[in-house]
Amino acid sequence: MPAKVAINGYGTVGKRLADAVAAQDDMEIVGVTKTRPTFEARTAVARGYPLYTAKAHQAAFREVGIEPEGTLEDLLGEADVVLDGTPKGSGYRPIYDEARVKAVWQGGEKHALTGLSFNANVNYKAALGANRLRVPSCNTTGLIRTLYPLQSRFGVENVNAVMVRRAADPGDTTRGPINAIVPELRVPSHHGPDVRSVLEGLPIQTIALKVPTTMMHVHAVTVDLEGEATTEEVLEVWRGAPRLRFVRGAEGITSTAQIMELARDLQRPRSDLYEIVVWEEGVHVQNHTLYYFQAVHQEADVIPENVDAIRAMLEMESEKDRSIRKTDRALGIPTSD
Ligand code: NAD
Repeated sequence: MPAKVAINGYGTVGKRLADAVAAQDDMEIVGVTKTRPTFEARTAVARGYPLYTAKAHQAAFREVGIEPEGTLEDLLGEADVVLDGTPKGSGYRPIYDEARVKAVWQGGEKHALTGLSFNANVNYKAALGANRLRVPSCNTTGLIRTLYPLQSRFGVENVNAVMVRRAADPGDTTRGPINAIVPELRVPSHHGPDVRSVLEGLPIQTIALKVPTTMMHVHAVTVDLEGEATTEEVLEVWRGAPRLRFVRGAEGITSTAQIMELARDLQRPRSDLYEIVVWEEGVHVQNHTLYYFQAVHQEADVIPENVDAIRAMLEMESEKDRSIRKTDRALGIPTSD
């Protein structure tokens, strides 16, 4: 029997979660929720996802010819697990608890909400059978993807990372700036402590800036390694790690613009780039200190982690490598075999 998955909040992340789950042969979407009958609600219906909404919103859907299947509570009754794609702080935990359904939250929520922050490569086993967990934010997931292999192989004495953050998602006209660079004056930024919600004890400090782009975040990272390493050894360790992709300036990829052009050429759904992208020439080790740049497609990188979280929580697969490979094959992410 495929796992029955509900999506509460079918927005930027929620619609990607729905399609990624639907692409797995061991999972199915039992329904998605929307609060308003937007174009996204129509897309959900066109894709065949049963649409649920609160009683108070149902008339608005009927007015535009969409017949809701029921309420969120009805949907939760059908589901083994709910992926929460609602804006941060929406506060659905008591409702999920009441319905006794397992739940996965996204990175807008605090670690304390679930007590378990998840990255498939790091702590898959800790999530086996868990009732609730959180997949950290796009930025945090990006840092964890490259730092964990370094920590495991060489040891890490210290990390300093500068996070250059996109101002808004491409479909969002409400946020900015459109012509300024905005430093995050809370120093260090929250990203470092958030990385430690998964990589406990990692000495990491982060500072952040917001820039007028909708395409990707970029991180400039400096890592003091404990052990000896060469640039080539670092690249070799990363090549064996999941969900990383290497690009070269020499091949014309000198900015996030060409990375997203590559993403469009790959012809994945919505041009999504699930992997963290590392510029090969930007990787450099000098006297135990590693420097690198990486780019994060903010709308997409957390999606495969959510799929693995489902497999772990429902104990459908006990080995992380097998779940990661299965998820990645279904999403068209290159695997090492
Ligand atoms: P979004 O605004 O694009 O989508 C939110 C969805 O929830 C919309 O469909 C909206 O209609 C619906 N919604 C709003 N209020 C609701 C309510 N009270 N009940 C039910 N549904 C409601 O938001 P998003 O960017 O997809 O963010 C969702 C979560 O994912 C947040 O925790 C965010 O921090 C996290 N996240 C976002 C990104 C990103 O780049 N957008 C990346 C990683 C993680």
